[in-house]
Amino acid sequence: MWEEDFDIVRVKARWVLDSRANPTVETEVYTLGGGFGRAIVPSGASTGTHEALELRDGGKDFHGKGVTRAIENVNTVIAREIVGMDARKQEDIDRRLIELDGTPNKSRLGANSILSVSLAVAHAAASTYGMPLYLYLGGLQAHLLPVPLMNIINGGKHAGNELRIQEFMIAPVGAKSFAEALKMGSEVYHALRSILRERYGAHAVNVGDEGGFAPPMRESREALRALVDAIKLAGYEPGRDVALALDAAASEFYDEKRGTYLLDGREFSREQLIKYYAELVGEFPIISIEDPLHEDDFEGFAIATRDLKVQIVGDDIFVTNPSRLSKGISLGAANALLLKVNQIGTLSESLEAARLAMSNNYSVIISHRSGESEDTTIAHLSVALNTGQIKTGAPARGERTSKYNELIRIEEELGSRAKYPGLSAFKHYRLSSL
Ligand code: PGA
Ligand code: ZN
Repeated sequence: MWEEDFDIVRVKARWVLDSRANPTVETEVYTLGGGFGRAIVPSGASTGTHEALELRDGGKDFHGKGVTRAIENVNTVIAREIVGMDARKQEDIDRRLIELDGTPNKSRLGANSILSVSLAVAHAAASTYGMPLYLYLGGLQAHLLPVPLMNIINGGKHAGNELRIQEFMIAPVGAKSFAEALKMGSEVYHALRSILRERYGAHAVNVGDEGGFAPPMRESREALRALVDAIKLAGYEPGRDVALALDAAASEFYDEKRGTYLLDGREFSREQLIKYYAELVGEFPIISIEDPLHEDDFEGFAIATRDLKVQIVGDDIFVTNPSRLSKGISLGAANALLLKVNQIGTLSESLEAARLAMSNNYSVIISHRSGESEDTTIAHLSVALNTGQIKTGAPARGERTSKYNELIRIEEELGSRAKYPGLSAFKHYRLSSL
């Protein structure tokens, strides 16, 4: 293998479809030594206001969601700039992309075009070495499989029901391996299916955007009860074997004018909402709550982090942005970062956000988006960074299982070096609250 083998010789983007029938950017990068990398960019629905910009064409085609301009940007401006560069120089390449764009939210070239290149470059470098991506990025340190946070009841923007909380997740903390965790997830998913069918009828087992069921429920407790019953029906002990997690995505039910939250048929002030979460944590084995408050309420996040004895995850509030995360850290807002590569737009900045979180004792959860594809980059990223947690939907639908299935392969490849952390991945969850 020679130095020149890593030279980028070709960059090519095209559109492909995501799981919601919308076009998205796929980019391929080729190196002189025969290396090849490909990445497909995901897309959110409950996007944070502060996320990097996803460039869409507007107009008639694809109902305005076309990505022709983003693809053009990759195939012309970006390709010209990075062909000839060494694919291992990820930080230099990402910096070049950021400079080329020149805006704070990547709105000129589009975070979708930039990210597709940034990730494809990493894949191409790994491929030139003949290494899997997790090993290229994480080296010998990479050995920790993530606890999957599986969203098996969908609400909010991802479903057509009345549940305002967006995600009701299960976390198989009692498993001994990732493969066993996935088996448990599958069993609980099927048990839930039969419970929903019995309680609400056949139409209740239709699924939402992330592969979880979208039953006609009205209230959060109804969903939580169904989860606990499903865990038991599958033969597991709620809390000990399989715990629960929520993503409230509270910006979606926050009424800005009134400064209140509309949830479960009631209107809550910030303080009342935190109290409500505390009640739910007392009644159900919930170990993690994401975005409990709206995306600009750093102070409220700090209160929730202090008062609730669970992992508090920042998604829309941090948007994987190191400067928003820094602000959160200085205020004690949340104790975990949800890491979504397309919120910030380059691999290097994502890694910087993860490092910042970890060095300040924040947990990191690698995450998919509600609009996904068969791309498995995030599975590799979770092992490379030893995050111990991943959120990538229900154990159903190809765009979700592609990540889980890749993790089964990685666990097998790591063999006896692989470690599944179970409950210890949730270092901010205080057991006494169970
Ligand atoms: P999104 O949802 O991809 O629609 O933003 C996922 C999340 O809020 O975590
Ligand atoms: Zn979220």
